[in-house]
Amino acid sequence: MKTRIDNGGVTIVFADKPSDAIRSALKASGFRWSPAGQVWWRRRVTGAADLITYLDRMLHPDRPDGNCWNCREPGKFRPRGAATPVLCDACHAIDLAHEATAEGGR
Ligand SMILES: [Zn+2]
Repeated sequence: MKTRIDNGGVTIVFADKPSDAIRSALKASGFRWSPAGQVWWRRRVTGAADLITYLDRMLHPDRPDGNCWNCREPGKFRPRGAATPVLCDACHAIDLAHEATAEGGR
């Protein structure tokens, strides 16, 4: 899957025809198939990063999301969306506890 995001919109190209589930997700998100360009596209850019992450997960359900930014263990996480720190469950729990403590101190 290749993606391009610019002011004109979002374009997604798949190496192979995507599954029904992915095509449904694309249509539900306002994407249209362009037979001329052989691409999926929509004009709205807002929320595209999260959608692309979601589609990538559907395409590669077994692939780790990456390494935890704290302990460097690979795993499946990103509990708070594509633009947030990537933490494994254990480090995320510590992070939440830390936030709770910080708020309590205000
Ligand atoms: Zn971790």
